[in-house]
Amino acid sequence: MSDLFACTTTTGEKVVSVVPTIPDGAPDVIREGIARRRLVATGQRCPCGARLVGPNRAQRRRAAKLKTGTVRDVFVWHEHDCPASTEALIEAVREWRDSA
Ligand SMILES: [Zn+2]
Repeated sequence: MSDLFACTTTTGEKVVSVVPTIPDGAPDVIREGIARRRLVATGQRCPCGARLVGPNRAQRRRAAKLKTGTVRDVFVWHEHDCPASTEALIEAVREWRDSA
């Protein structure tokens, strides 16, 4: 399951983010990681300082040539020790899956 959030990036792009819901029974580290991602998706900062960053000028120029409503990339760079980082979540999900 997932939720949709609408917010504005650091570069003023209006975006809609699709973020997973927190799975029932998930370990605390996964719950925290997803909660932080949900926080950033609403336009707030992660406790590690990460925030939703829009495309750079070149990417915006390319995107302007596309039809509206197309999928565009936005970026969030969490600190490596943040539970919301992709690497941390992959490892946590792997451990959770292997312990089942
Ligand atoms: Zn973070």
